[in-house]
Amino acid sequence: MNDHLKHLIALQDTDSQILFKKRFIEKVPKRIHEVDEPLKKAQYELEAIRQKSKYIAKKRKEQEAYLEDILAKVEKMKSRVSEIKTNKEYQAYLKEIEVFQHEISEVEENILVLMEELDDSVQREKEKENIVNREVEKINRFKKELDAEVHLHKEELAVLQEKRQEHISVLDGDTYNIYMTLIDTKQGVAVTRARDEICQGCNMHVPPQLFVELKKNKDIIQCPQCSRILYYAEE
Ligand SMILES: [Zn+2]
Repeated sequence: MNDHLKHLIALQDTDSQILFKKRFIEKVPKRIHEVDEPLKKAQYELEAIRQKSKYIAKKRKEQEAYLEDILAKVEKMKSRVSEIKTNKEYQAYLKEIEVFQHEISEVEENILVLMEELDDSVQREKEKENIVNREVEKINRFKKELDAEVHLHKEELAVLQEKRQEHISVLDGDTYNIYMTLIDTKQGVAVTRARDEICQGCNMHVPPQLFVELKKNKDIIQCPQCSRILYYAEE
């Protein structure tokens, strides 16, 4: 095989690996964003539940304080019952007590409802907390693994860059320029195999006469359709 062609094939292989690794590294922020967003949403929901629990607990305290106030008032009234002189006053007293009793039942009912609501809310809070904690653990593990992968890719990239330089040093400037133009314009594939008279880069037929030449792997031959540099390899 033509020495330049051999290095072009190797250069393409190296560049494909470099491209793959660079793309992997480039996509990392997006991948992290993709897992962080649902977590943020879950954390936001958890915070909303916590706020609701706080609000219910506050309401309950208010109702309890209010109940104590009424009970204290009733106690005070009852302690003064001996001071009542007339029947009319006594009837008014009974009426007032009745109103208070009614109010007490209502407030007690409110407190019961609030206690149930608080129990529910706290339960939901715990469930959400578990989900968030599990998710945080999972994401941290994912980020750690991703970090390790990026680190490895970066190390390998340095080796590949060196390899790349070795191949380039063998090529002449014109060939390298053609190669780089193709890399830039043909989605990173400048050198490709011709198989069964078909260019694997564009899937178009290679004229039979050209294919005969190609099989020799002696010259740098470009695909008549996509201009990629072609080579032949045995199955
Ligand atoms: Zn082609």
